[in-house]
Amino acid sequence: MSTKSKSLTPLMRQYHHIKEEHEGAILLFRVGDFYECFADDAELVSKELGITLTKRNNGGDQTPMAGFPHHALDTYLPKLVKKGYRVAVCEQVENPSEAKEAGRKIVNREVTEITTPGVTMSEKLLEHKRNNYAAAVYWDGKTAGAAFADVSTGEFSVSEVPKDRLDDLMQSIAPAELLLSQNLKNNVPEFLLDYNMTFIEEWVYEGEYGYNLLTDHFETHSLKGFGVEDLEVAHVAAGALMHYIQETQKASLGHIKRIQKFESNDFMSLDGSTKRNLELTTTIQEGGSSEGTLISILDDTATAMGGRMLRKWIMRPLKRMKPIRARLNAVESLNVNHDVREKVREELEKVGDLERLISRICVGRANPRDLVKLKDSLAQTPITKSQFNHLDEYLLNDILERMKLLIEVQEKIEEAIVEDPPTSLRDGDIFKDGYNEELDELRNIARNGKDYIADIKNELAEETGIDSLKIGYNKVYGYYIEVTNTHAEKVPEHFIRKQTLVNSERYITPELKEVEERILSSEEQSKGLEYDLFEELRIEIAGFAEDVQQVARAVAELDCLQSFAEVAYHNNYCKPAIADDQKIDITKGRHPVVEKTLPPGDPFIPNDIHTENEDEQILIITGPNMAGKSIILRQTGLIVLLAQIGCFVPAEEAHIGLVDKIFTRVGASDNLAAGESTFLVEMNEAANILNNATRNSLILLDEVGRGTSTFDGLSIAWALAEYLHNQPSVAAKTLFATHYHELNELENMYDHIVNYNVSVKEHDDKVIFLRKLVRGGADHSYGIQVADMAGLPSIVIERAKEILSNLESHSLDLTDSNGTLEDGAKKKKAAVKKAAKEMEKQDQITQPSLFQAQLDPNTEQLIDKLEACDPNRMTPIESLMLVSELKKLV
Ligand code: ADP
Repeated sequence: MSTKSKSLTPLMRQYHHIKEEHEGAILLFRVGDFYECFADDAELVSKELGITLTKRNNGGDQTPMAGFPHHALDTYLPKLVKKGYRVAVCEQVENPSEAKEAGRKIVNREVTEITTPGVTMSEKLLEHKRNNYAAAVYWDGKTAGAAFADVSTGEFSVSEVPKDRLDDLMQSIAPAELLLSQNLKNNVPEFLLDYNMTFIEEWVYEGEYGYNLLTDHFETHSLKGFGVEDLEVAHVAAGALMHYIQETQKASLGHIKRIQKFESNDFMSLDGSTKRNLELTTTIQEGGSSEGTLISILDDTATAMGGRMLRKWIMRPLKRMKPIRARLNAVESLNVNHDVREKVREELEKVGDLERLISRICVGRANPRDLVKLKDSLAQTPITKSQFNHLDEYLLNDILERMKLLIEVQEKIEEAIVEDPPTSLRDGDIFKDGYNEELDELRNIARNGKDYIADIKNELAEETGIDSLKIGYNKVYGYYIEVTNTHAEKVPEHFIRKQTLVNSERYITPELKEVEERILSSEEQSKGLEYDLFEELRIEIAGFAEDVQQVARAVAELDCLQSFAEVAYHNNYCKPAIADDQKIDITKGRHPVVEKTLPPGDPFIPNDIHTENEDEQILIITGPNMAGKSIILRQTGLIVLLAQIGCFVPAEEAHIGLVDKIFTRVGASDNLAAGESTFLVEMNEAANILNNATRNSLILLDEVGRGTSTFDGLSIAWALAEYLHNQPSVAAKTLFATHYHELNELENMYDHIVNYNVSVKEHDDKVIFLRKLVRGGADHSYGIQVADMAGLPSIVIERAKEILSNLESHSLDLTDSNGTLEDGAKKKKAAVKKAAKEMEKQDQITQPSLFQAQLDPNTEQLIDKLEACDPNRMTPIESLMLVSELKKLV
């Protein structure tokens, strides 16, 4: 021990010792009625919580100190964890008299719980309709293993993926905390940097430790029964996760009953960018909210469990016909029977969060009210079931079967706990009279102490034959028996004399002292007994965790189905036909989110999409900016996804050939900072699509190549379309939105490529967006008209028209006799150069001022900038930025 630590007070020595054991966590150290933090923790906590920083005089040292009263723990602890900190709560685990008895100067203290962003049971930290996951990852060569768990619900899952898919996997889990081995601390892959990371000692990842930890926890010899025995890389991650949860929770984890395998072949694969681009659960904007997302439209669930399941369903659409049809049929049944659905919803609203209740019960953090809530929620089950059991529908019947009543659990709680119990376990009044004999007796003594003494008095009077025998009480002797001197000879031997008065004697008996003791401490004792009885009952109920979890899943499933039915009913969705074919055929499809956000008087225009046969594998969709191309792409993706999660779809009619993966590549949008990196991202995504798509995939390509120059972009887009057409293994259904109307040429060259355009009408030199998808290519891009509508000064618009008409007068043939694009592009370049030269010539005659040789530098710059811009590729915002730049030069 250093000299410094020698000079510390015993309390501070204890503090430092415990702090060392919980490195990386803020230590809230209980001292009497306060939680105190010292040193760096104190400074941090004072800053984060806005509480006063003081100093503790510690043998010459002035240690910074900050603290708060113990009852404020529930307020302050969640605040710290929400900010990403891990917090260890260190309690006094004995009272001062116990410490004194044992000859200790200070009371023993122990960390009883560590709360972290990913491992928490606190209602203040959890969102009802969202899982809160801690995840661990580990990789070996090209294989990555991941494990994730939500301790608040008992879910524990593992997955193994190629390492380059780990990013996608993590994005779909979105863990609140990510565990990594300590040896990666200075070498964390970039795609993991944004997660809230916690580093675990390296040895946890070694040898059989993790595997053994798992089999010990599940009390099995192997993991075969869970179907994850072969996932050896994932075992390491799962072991690290289990280690961490055990370390932090410091409680029984009996509610973690099984390991599930995540991302099995039953689910459609959606990569991270597709989930983002389709705005499934967050919008694409930075710090995206849930408003304007698919889930915001679909989630009409009545329970927290249903809400969480719905989120998972959306992120994991199904791939197989049978379960999809099962969901669709159940939704149909609930959709048609409005009254039934209404009643089911009403009853579901009364069901508490069974999953989180049983978890709290299992880990020992439940209070008496939680048990009553569990009982009441289970008691709802038969009422809910009776609302829909007559529908006699396959999946609904299956759910009925799984919604067990668990009468035994209900009865056990009903027999034991009073109707409206307190939340505290220490203050008694939890149990009903008649539940436990000893408790009844104790309560009886406490409540009717005097009656009890009177009973004893009568018994003694009878026994001794002294009618005048009295029982009195004083502070010195407690309860005593008083006998007047006249009856002195009748006093039995076992009476112990305590005091002699003038006319009488006072006695005690061991029995009376026992009774006295019981009366005085009965209240204390009954509270203690209630605490123990609660613990017993809690453990007994925890034994039903698996059953309760099964009911919870059934309730959640019912809730999701009714939510789909409700949303379908209110938004006029139709039941899609599902088939194992390559056809996507949507009549009057709509975008489920955009149709809700358009201002009144601006109705959503539905559109048809047909990829009925092989000839319609790739749809080139042209149209000016803002015409509605992206919306058509996204709505198609969303309709397919909705169908495959078993939901009705926003269309008049839909036939969906099952899709194994949806890919999206969405343009660089109005990102002003669009530069190389954006283009690189775009190309990475395109590469991912080409490498992973199959004939059964759906690819949505929006403005590919936009992040680079026109020629590069056009060439890349062209080559991509060719590849998707010519490679049978990736010949996926593709919707290709582009403003490069040159791509319309492809239809003439390839059998399975067809042109569509989102129609516009020109009127008085303005474009009117008709938003209708029609057969055939768009002839030009109307970029200038759109720029005009955006309010660009008329002088710029007029000049742009002039330039355009010059360019257009040199018609472009992109392909040579062999149909290769490269030569076509060269031709285009030559044509543009030629046009520019001619314009220059013309301009020298007609507008000498603009292209004259001796221009001042500003004007030269102005011209350069104008020449460099491509109105076809510019968004209205980019145009505005350009104008403001140009203006500065004038
Ligand atoms: P593009 O991709 O062609 O540039 P978008 O698909 O982004 O255009 O559509 C631009 C805007 O037009 C959307 O934000 C939406 O407000 C509106 N819009 C698009 N499609 C429709 C439609 N079918 N009905 C009504 N409004 C639409």
